[in-house]
Amino acid sequence: MKQKHVIIVGGGASGLVAAITAAREGARVTLIEQKDRLGKKILSTGNGRCNLTNEYMNPDCFRGDDTEIVSAVLKQFGYQETISFFEELGVILKNRQGYIYPITDQASTILDVLCMEVSRMGINVLLEQSVTGIAHTSKGFLIRTNKSTQHGDAVILATGGKAAPALGSDGSGYSLVKGFGHRLSPVVPALVQLKGKGNFFKQIAGVRTNAKVTLLVEGETVSSDTGELQLTNYGISGIPVFQVSRYAAKGLYEKKKVTAEVDFLPVMSDEEFVSFLKKRIEKHGDKHAEDFLVGVFHQKLIGLLLKIARIPSNLNASEITEQQMQLFLKLAKHFIVEIEGTNDFEQAQICAGGVRTTEINSSTMESLLAKDLYLTGELLDIDGICGGYNLQWAWATGYIAGKNAAKGR
Ligand SMILES: Cc1cc2nc3c(=O)[nH]c(=O)nc-3n(C[C@H](O)[C@H](O)[C@H](O)COP(=O)(O)OP(=O)(O)OC[C@H]3O[C@@H](n4cnc5c(N)ncnc54)[C@H](O)[C@@H]3O)c2cc1C
Repeated sequence: MKQKHVIIVGGGASGLVAAITAAREGARVTLIEQKDRLGKKILSTGNGRCNLTNEYMNPDCFRGDDTEIVSAVLKQFGYQETISFFEELGVILKNRQGYIYPITDQASTILDVLCMEVSRMGINVLLEQSVTGIAHTSKGFLIRTNKSTQHGDAVILATGGKAAPALGSDGSGYSLVKGFGHRLSPVVPALVQLKGKGNFFKQIAGVRTNAKVTLLVEGETVSSDTGELQLTNYGISGIPVFQVSRYAAKGLYEKKKVTAEVDFLPVMSDEEFVSFLKKRIEKHGDKHAEDFLVGVFHQKLIGLLLKIARIPSNLNASEITEQQMQLFLKLAKHFIVEIEGTNDFEQAQICAGGVRTTEINSSTMESLLAKDLYLTGELLDIDGICGGYNLQWAWATGYIAGKNAAKGR
């Protein structure tokens, strides 16, 4: 059987694993990357520590218009396969409450072992070459870059999406796939900060507090998450905001009304909070309202909530009326932020949207529209929640595409 020449466009997370896998399966491999080095984005992952997968690996951690493909992918290359893949490359891994990192806590460890394997497998790496066009010919594919022309029997498009374009993924992959007739689900920023309406944000900027964030689109709850909320001078950020942000971005794209309801004290129900306040008034009723809440909320937050509830900060807690208490409860546990935008792709960790998964063979990652064309990673309309799921998706789809692209003709 003739040795196949597999060309991989994009030397990021999925492209690197695809290249290694295709080479291990016996293919001749060329990896084309437009940046001056491979895997730039990997270095920024997990705050420079690379959260490469998660012990809790379940299809429900992935989103998209049609997520059926996820189970098929994880069945072939799930959590355990990722662990084995990196352990075989020599990495000792560390488990932090299910989140997996290299023991070195350095993302460069992951990139280094991948690059060493690329080199060991004799993969031909072309750096600083941007693929501008791909043509399907009777003999395979003709790939044009800004500097050269390459011929391949199979092509793996591993160009990523368009989040964090400074790290390489500038969205050029979308025009390449459109050339083959693929359709896209609208691409929006995800795992990103949300901009809120209102002039009060400056007053509470810098506050970090545990909170539950519930996202509503047209008044319907679509997602919620609890964790460390960060208040900024333009809106809300932090993990719980990132987790719900793709729904906000999609809603805003569809010109729908998007709001976030913030519960600043998720450890108590509304009823528990009211009875807690009443008991506290019995004990500390002589304290001024602003002092009375110290120990419950962040100082800056107390100031804002009292101001909106029109409770004078020097009012004795015992004089707070039932009506004021109900309003305070509403603000503290059901604070509504009207979302007017997300931060841009530059600040987003990933994109939501991309190539429709119904146009991909879920067992091989081959395009259903073009034979010998394979698609991986963030280019596809699947986005994972925070916690190592996006890299898991990249490694898994890269592995499957690499394995199948290398198979003889
Ligand atoms: C700041 C940050 C932190 C993150 N942290 C985590 C984390 O801890 N855990 C996690 O699971 N996920 C994390 N992610 C998300 C994760 O990094 C991505 O989902 C993943 O890298 C996507 O892999 P990919 O192979 O699809 O694309 P990418 O890794 O983006 O790689 C695409 C590559 O293709 C190249 N390319 C694009 N177009 C062309 C072209 N036309 N010609 C040649 N080359 C091209 C690009 O230069 C790039 O190198 C983070 C993302 C960011 C931005």
